[in-house]
Amino acid sequence: MFCPFCRAPDTKVIDSRLVGEGEQVRRRRECVVCGERFTTFEGAELVTPRVIKSDGSRVPFDDNKLRKSMMHALQKRPVSIEKIDSAIQAILHRLRASGEREVKSIVIGELVMNELAKLDKVAYVRFASVYRDFQDVEAFNTEIEKLKQHDEQQP
Ligand SMILES: [Zn+2]
Repeated sequence: MFCPFCRAPDTKVIDSRLVGEGEQVRRRRECVVCGERFTTFEGAELVTPRVIKSDGSRVPFDDNKLRKSMMHALQKRPVSIEKIDSAIQAILHRLRASGEREVKSIVIGELVMNELAKLDKVAYVRFASVYRDFQDVEAFNTEIEKLKQHDEQQP
């Protein structure tokens, strides 16, 4: 990295050690041009990306809202809270691991649909019907038919 004193493009690391529980690395650096020393801290950045809504506005990610809409879809369905929690964790993990600063709300919707499809077919259809912009009733019916057929094939 650049020297913060003289902007020289080359600095060398003279010491490197883990900080705390090892979640950060502290590096002591020295500028090869002006000889000044400085310290940097490096850590993994696990932020949840901001959400780009369909109108283009940006809002902070809200995991309460995510939980609420999933709970709504799963209302009165035989799915344990533990399973719902781990589905939410899986979604958050995917979003954080993406490294993106911003993510379209539709992408989050798809992640939720993936998880719901694994948890409960009825909840999946409930959520999809609200979330996915089913342009016409036909598309919605096709989706339900597909699920029905899938269930009938199971013994
Ligand atoms: Zn320098």
